[in-house]
Amino acid sequence: MILHLNKNTDRSTIEAMSRQLDAFHIEREHCHILVTPSATREVPEAFRAHVEESFVFDNDMQLSSAAYFPGTRPVTIGDLTIGGDTGNTMLIAGPCSVESEAQIRASAELLKELGVSTLRAGCFKPRTSPYSFRGLGLEGLELLKAMRRDYGLHVITEVRDSTHVDDVIEATDIIQIGAKAMYDHGILEACGRADKPVLLKRFFGATLQEFVQAADFVLSGGNEDVILCERGIRTFETGTRFTLDLCGVAYLKEHTNLPVILDPSHAMGYRYGVPDLARACAAMGIDGLLIEVHPDPSTARSDASQQLDHDAFRALVQSLQPIAAAVGRRIV
Ligand code: PEP
Ligand code: MN
Repeated sequence: MILHLNKNTDRSTIEAMSRQLDAFHIEREHCHILVTPSATREVPEAFRAHVEESFVFDNDMQLSSAAYFPGTRPVTIGDLTIGGDTGNTMLIAGPCSVESEAQIRASAELLKELGVSTLRAGCFKPRTSPYSFRGLGLEGLELLKAMRRDYGLHVITEVRDSTHVDDVIEATDIIQIGAKAMYDHGILEACGRADKPVLLKRFFGATLQEFVQAADFVLSGGNEDVILCERGIRTFETGTRFTLDLCGVAYLKEHTNLPVILDPSHAMGYRYGVPDLARACAAMGIDGLLIEVHPDPSTARSDASQQLDHDAFRALVQSLQPIAAAVGRRIV
């Protein structure tokens, strides 16, 4: 249950209510919000006078629920807003990993040339094998900061574990929580306290409800700016790397109030399918697309098989705008 309390409710009452109802307290400009487990469905008589509005749910998808906030909540990244009534589909692109200054600069120049506002590249890579490239770490973050400064781009990078969560939060404009970190509570809680938007990727073995509940971890920590990212789930199929769950995207649009971004690159795993999938995603009327693109994909130190080269990315960007327009959206 979500309770909106009168802004004048005193601290000791809020504390007593939080204790008794096992609730999270979120302070907002116009009210105090308490979020209890969804099984709680009644407010004790003694506290009722403080409650201005209450929302009851069937399960613990609460702050993220469309039943709480109809429509899509607006999330602002620098000078750009997605969600709300913007109709914006934000393009996020860049190489899987920051590998060198020359590589990330070439990527930043491509984005600048095409008017793409948001550069994404990993510095702390969660790898399946310990012998694979794990990213440049703090040196990579410095390079991303330099790209933001030199090209005026927003940057997004991934936090892999809680050892560097503060460094990533400080350096980036959007914090990416990778699929494998979806259940890392240290990261979820740190992101809940952060004042930057969070892009939460769906773990490839998580149900939609588990995914959305991970978003509720961040929201219940006080951060209102959570974006969901569908990046493919694991099925019986081995011909493609994962299976992009477009039904799941329809579900998230219907049942949650969070912007939804799609990542066809990690879902497909092979560059040949990425442009077609990206166009199919854009046709769903989504809030953003995340595409991996590398100046020389054959030399990429991670996810080499799925990254587009610059020419393929240019062609893709050209083709997206009319598709977005056909569903009442604009690529930004
Ligand atoms: C990535 O975005 O480069 C990445 C590692 O993706 P995921 O967390 O979806 O596997
Ligand atoms: Mn990748």
